[in-house]
This record gives sequence, structure tokens and C-alpha cells, in this order.
Amino acid sequence: MKHSQPPSELPQMARAVSVRRLFRHGDRAEQRTIAALWLLSLAASIGLGLASVIYKWSGLPVRLGGVELYITVYPPLVICLLWTLTCGWWWGAIPAYLATLTLALYGGMPLPWALLFSGANPLGFAVMGLGYRAISASRRLTSVGAMLLYVQLAFVGAIFSSSGALVWCYTNRIDSTALLPIWQGWWLGAFLQSVLLCAPVLALMWPHLERWQQQRPQLLVESSRDPRGSVLRWLGCVTIGVLVYGFVTLQLADNLLQAQAAAIPAGLARALEVARDTTWAFYWVFALIVVFIAVFGYHMFIHWQTLTNQLLADLRHANQRLYMLAGTDSLTGLHNRRVADERIAAEWLRAQRLGAQAALVMIDIDHFKQINDRHGHPVGDEAIRVLATAIRALSREVDCACRYGGEEFVIILPQADAEGAYYFAERLRSRVAAAPVASEHGVFHFTVSVGIALVNPADPGHEAWIERSDHALYRAKRDGRNRVVAAAA
Ligand code: GH3
Ligand code: MG
Ligand code: MG
Repeated sequence: MKHSQPPSELPQMARAVSVRRLFRHGDRAEQRTIAALWLLSLAASIGLGLASVIYKWSGLPVRLGGVELYITVYPPLVICLLWTLTCGWWWGAIPAYLATLTLALYGGMPLPWALLFSGANPLGFAVMGLGYRAISASRRLTSVGAMLLYVQLAFVGAIFSSSGALVWCYTNRIDSTALLPIWQGWWLGAFLQSVLLCAPVLALMWPHLERWQQQRPQLLVESSRDPRGSVLRWLGCVTIGVLVYGFVTLQLADNLLQAQAAAIPAGLARALEVARDTTWAFYWVFALIVVFIAVFGYHMFIHWQTLTNQLLADLRHANQRLYMLAGTDSLTGLHNRRVADERIAAEWLRAQRLGAQAALVMIDIDHFKQINDRHGHPVGDEAIRVLATAIRALSREVDCACRYGGEEFVIILPQADAEGAYYFAERLRSRVAAAPVASEHGVFHFTVSVGIALVNPADPGHEAWIERSDHALYRAKRDGRNRVVAAAA
């Protein structure tokens, strides 16, 4: 039984643009524009990536409120992150990878290390995209909540993006004391560029892009309905990201301290030793808490999802029941007039399209007014029920029996020819005539008249089909009742 779905109130999750679908189903002009824009972005990313090495835009010191911070400016990140957030991971990951690979090889990094090193930005993008997917969040940055979420995701993404700094320092044999500014510049730079440059551009572009995407669902990648996998991976990534971030920062600061050890007076060295131990103890407790929160969060999510799924199943079940009740006649339990009209129209259309056969059988109790008058309304009702029982007993699974109104019934017989329909109607007529009905005046019998019409390709609509069966019924009445009449073909 089909029933219409209520419109979904859930926010539309962003879906990636599929390259394959774009080139198979997309508009020619759009294909060319998008390809040109992407190639331009690729060239700009490679060029600006090289410029960032040649002009040394990394580890630039900045004083912020008395604290010295380091920032790395890397424009390809902005370009590629925008592609990732608007069109999907591959769109940004490929130019980001190639831009980093080019600058790494230019800087003399051995190829195997360069291949690994270039994965840092795509990794950061993946983590950010995963976060959006895990909570089915929209990318429309029009509310404070959406902006805060973006900032959080950008932070975790930046931490993962900055993993490249460690490879860079290792392959360039950079002294461990110089690692901190480079690593910090890398993640802080990535974070600030994501928030200060990408976010405003995304906020301006997204409404237009979203509309563009909504008009072209055939170009988008199908999204999975079950978010469990994304949530688990996302929580894992955040946990690892936060723990590695804390560990690397402390370790690098530790290295710096060790390098200065000789120059520090004994008393201060002891105090620093205590501070260092306390910090590390705190780190490990903190690590445990973060892991605990992640595990707890995941369990809470699963619990909530199970509950929601259960509620949805209940709701679906209740809706189905409601739909069934709305289409059921309360006196006989057969379908009611509404279902009859729907099914007659549907069966007519089906038969016309497939050139199939179908019969419409219309039944009316003879002299029913007299039954009511003589035996009373409740006994009249009982006669209607007796007729319904006979119809139910003789109908096939595929037939659709309905109470059309009062003491009138219709039965749709799909795939029935003239002979089959007549045989069915005749059996029904004789069975009803033989069925006893009890009343206070004793047992009595009643009869029915039946009209049959087969689907006719010449009919302009299903109404004509009904009219012909009604007409046949009228003739059965006129010819003396208690008989079956088939409409002429
Ligand atoms: P005919 O042989 O020509 O069909 O004669 P008839 O008396 O059956 O005529 P008609 O079809 O016009 O009569 C319908 C009657 O059925 C009128 C109405 O009072 C009665 N009726 C309609 N619905 C119900 C119902 O749910 N229960 C009962 N008991 N009577 C009903
Ligand atoms: Mg009638
Ligand atoms: Mg009647």
C-alpha cells in the first residue's frame, strides 16, 4: 500500500559534486566553466605554494598581547579548502597535494618523503569534511552556532594539516629547538587562514552554491543514510588530533628547555623540573579524560540514534495503520469508496498502458429498502455483512473489493477476461441467494444484481469504465433482478 511521505524537516546535508556525473549529465557550458576554474585553481595553488617557499612565508613571528606566536602563510590552503568545502574532498585534495608535492620536490625533499608530506593538507581537509558529515551539518555560515562549529572543525583540521611540519623539519634536518615555531606557525597559520579567509568567502558563496546544487541533484554523489561510521571516525580523529597536538607541543617545549639546561641556575632548574613533571602528569590525566569523553559521546550518540530509529519505526507503523483505517469500511471491513476510486483509476491506467485485461464488477442488493422496512435497520446491516463475507470468500488475493456506498459494492478484478468475470459474478450471485440471514421473523434470503464491464481501450477515462458497469447493473435490475449482466464489448 503506497502512502505519501511527509516533507522532511531535516537540514539538507551538503553532498559532493561527482566529476563522473558532471561530465555525463551536466550542461556543456557549466562543464567548461568548472573545469577552467579548477585548472586555474590548480595552477594558482602550485604557483603560490612555490612562492611561499621562495619568499619564506613560513614561521613569521607575530606578537599578540605580549606572547610571541609564529604564523605560516600558505595561500593554496585557502583555495583548496574552499573547493573541498563546496564541491567535495577530491576537488580540493588533488590541487593541495600537487601544490605541496611541487614545493617539496623544489625544496629538495626526497621523493618518498615528499609523497607522504603532501598528504598533510588533504588529511586536514578530510578530517574537516568528516566532521560536517558526522553531524549532517549545513555549511551555511549564517548563524553563530554554524560559525562556532566551523571554527572548531577548522581547528582540528589545522592540527592534522600541520602534521606536515614534522616531516618537513625531519627531512630538512632542522634542529629540534627550532621545531616549535615551525609547527606552531603551521597549525596556527592554517587555522587563521581557514577562519579569517575561507569562512567569509564560504559564507558569501554557499547560499548560491547550495541553490546551484539543489537544482542539479543528478550531479551529486549519493550520501549514506547511516552516520555511525562518520561519527566514530570523526570522534577518533578529534581525540587523536587533540592528544597528538598536546603531546607534540609539550615535547617540543621540553626539547627547547633541555637545550637551555646548561645556562639555567640550579634553583630555577629544579623549579622547572617540578613544573615539567606536573605538566606531563596533567597531560596524561587530560588524555584519559579526552578518551573518556569520546567513548561516552559515542555511546550517547548510539543510544540516541537507537531511540530515534525506534520512534521512527513506531511512527511509520502508526501511519500505516491510520492509512489503512482511513481506507476501510467500518461495517464490513472491506475497502471504502475512497480506495475504490483510487484503485479503479490506477487499474484502468495500468490496463491501458500494458494492454492488459481487467473487469469491474458492480453489485447492488435487490429490494433492500423492503428488507430494512420489514426487518429493521440492524438486520439490513447484517445482510450487508453477509454479502461482504461472500465477496471476501470468492475474491482472489489480487482483487480489490470495496463497499461503494449503502448496499452497493464494487470489485476490481485485474487480469480477468469476460468469461472469468462472469463466472465469478455468477458464483457470487448464487452463493448470496443461498445464504440465510436471521431475523426475529425467522430466517430469510435476499438476492443481488450484478453488472460487469471489461476495460475498453476506447474509453476516454476510468469514469467511462464505471459508467458502463453501472449501466450493466441497471439492466440487470430492469431485466428482473437476481442476475448478472455484462456490458457489451
Ligand atoms: P433496488 O432493488 O432497485 O436496488 O431497490 P432498493 O430497495 O435496494 O433501492 P435502493 O438501492 O435505492 O435502496 C437503498 C437503501 O439502502 C436506502 C437506504 O435506506 C438503505 N441503506 C443505505 N445504507 C445502509 C446501511 O448502511 N444500512 C442499512 N441497513 N440500510 C442502508
Ligand atoms: Mg442501491
Ligand atoms: Mg438496492
